[in-house]
Amino acid sequence: MKNLIFNIYFLFTIILLLAIAFLEIFRILDRRTRIVIVILLAIFLIFSYLFFTLVIARFMVFGLALFIATCLIIFYLVYGILFSKSEIWGKVFWHGESEEWAVALTFDDGPTPRNTPQILEILEKFNIKATFFMVGKSIRRYRELARQVDSAGHAIGNHSFSHPVLVSERKGQIRREVMLTDRIIRQVIGKRPYIFRPPHGFKDPRVFNIARELQYVIVSWSNMPEDWKEISAEKIAERVLERAEPGDIILLHDGDRGEREADRTETVKSLPLIIEGILSQGYAFKTIPEMLGESEWILEMIRRWGWQIPH
Ligand SMILES: [Zn+2]
Repeated sequence: MKNLIFNIYFLFTIILLLAIAFLEIFRILDRRTRIVIVILLAIFLIFSYLFFTLVIARFMVFGLALFIATCLIIFYLVYGILFSKSEIWGKVFWHGESEEWAVALTFDDGPTPRNTPQILEILEKFNIKATFFMVGKSIRRYRELARQVDSAGHAIGNHSFSHPVLVSERKGQIRREVMLTDRIIRQVIGKRPYIFRPPHGFKDPRVFNIARELQYVIVSWSNMPEDWKEISAEKIAERVLERAEPGDIILLHDGDRGEREADRTETVKSLPLIIEGILSQGYAFKTIPEMLGESEWILEMIRRWGWQIPH
């Protein structure tokens, strides 16, 4: 009886903890990925339950230690996939040089006719260059807009073709997502992109291998105000400014996973507040290629892999 109660308690604790951990991530995932995660969780729960009843019950201390170690390793590996600053699976450019008093503005998921032109206007008014990680299907839909971003002097990066959760895709599909957008960017703006931001920032060893094979640097972020969460422009700006640090890569959105009708009114309204605040803190603005140009490890990568980084 005592054993039964303990087992039930044990299972519920794990379910509760995992539910809390995944709640935030769950919201942004598509249906298929959620099913995959639920199946993986179920396997993990069955595994841990069997582990408990078969191993721990018999070899108390040793079994428990082994179980905790296994859990920690699993969480460590999952952390590497999900978190923007983690470099467990490979090199990620998530921050510029910390000695440099500069930050980078990045806009994901565009271009969109509703938001991108307004953002370009504000950036032009302040004479600031930013970086746009575009979704291939949106570039194809709004070619002229992508050209405008490029000819205004902003950098353009690859953000996949259809914004899937890459870690739940097959390897061939991951490669297609990156290559298709690569080709579209070359066709539309006549330049080879070499910065790639995986959708949601999720990356696993296959994503790193493909990026390396296609000569891409994986870029994430260090300052994320979560502007997609329907918060006010003031709140977005406040979050960016209170966290701002030298070398920051700020993540904002001018689209919504390649959707046509993405409404980023609050992000657009927050932009002048962010720029004025950042300038008043004494920072300059740089594009990601500018930041990369000063980074030691990109030079190391170029040396090691013989990359040709375009200027
Ligand atoms: Zn995105």
